[in-house]
Amino acid sequence: MTTNVILLGLPGAGKGTQAEKIVADYPMVHISTGDIFRANLKDQTALGEKARQYMDAGNLVPDEITNAMVADRLTQADVVANGFMLDGYPRNQDQAKFLDEFLSEQNQAVSAALYFEVADDVLVDRLLKRGRADDTKDVIEHRIEVNKEANMPVVDYYRQADVLHTINGDNDLDVIYGEVKQVLDQVN
Ligand code: AMP
Repeated sequence: MTTNVILLGLPGAGKGTQAEKIVADYPMVHISTGDIFRANLKDQTALGEKARQYMDAGNLVPDEITNAMVADRLTQADVVANGFMLDGYPRNQDQAKFLDEFLSEQNQAVSAALYFEVADDVLVDRLLKRGRADDTKDVIEHRIEVNKEANMPVVDYYRQADVLHTINGDNDLDVIYGEVKQVLDQVN
């Protein structure tokens, strides 16, 4: 079996930065569903056209479209050979179930779900610093609440599956990455 990892965490939790470090050291293929959707929008593919209305409104693309896209990506040769690191998927429990069923058909499974947990006030500070000028503290706090509500069922799903590793995302980047490596070296 290859090593298959899920990255979980709210916007501002540092997932992107850790993903860059991980791919430099490990063979898993980094798959960001947001990036794939954006590339399809740009290239005006049939998939992009299906996803556009949802993305423009800031809503999730329906599971049927998203799951098919992920299944297609996971059957490509680079992922079959090296495993994956999924970023931005699953976003709800139905997607998590779909992924488990899909993987079990391939005699694969999720090796680890890394959950980058960051205190709300730290998230607010980070998002204020990197956000647009019209991102007020109130708007950012609201966005964190909304995302949290969506995120927690997926965190719970992997906790119940006994593959969840919670990592303190308040720490320095290198300290966080040290913890990430410990987990990945256990499951590799
Ligand atoms: P992101 O960059 O991860 O925030 O994704 C950008 C947009 O792509 C989201 O606002 C959704 O419209 C869509 N998207 C990305 N991942 C998913 C997913 N797992 N399920 C549904 N829609 C998604």
